[in-house]
Amino acid sequence: MTAKEAIGVIEAALSFVFDDVSEKQNWDDAITTAISALKRMAPEHPLLEENHDKLGYAFVCPHCHRMSTFSLHCRFCGQKIDMSGFDTL
Ligand SMILES: [Zn+2]
Repeated sequence: MTAKEAIGVIEAALSFVFDDVSEKQNWDDAITTAISALKRMAPEHPLLEENHDKLGYAFVCPHCHRMSTFSLHCRFCGQKIDMSGFDTL
């Protein structure tokens, strides 16, 4: 099962009805945290955004929108970065 498939299963499970409202809130909080972590594991291309400190544009993380020296992960939030296709720029 891929991370994306797991997210779909987990999101579908959120439709379960709980008798105890606080139990459902705890479940929602835990699942939201888990989905966020899973999404950061799926590699995404960086975004090209205007750089306000300097003239021009810079690559930023697609999750936290902070500039980073990308390797495999954003050093700020842990988002897995896919730099494929950018090696010819
Ligand atoms: Zn980030």
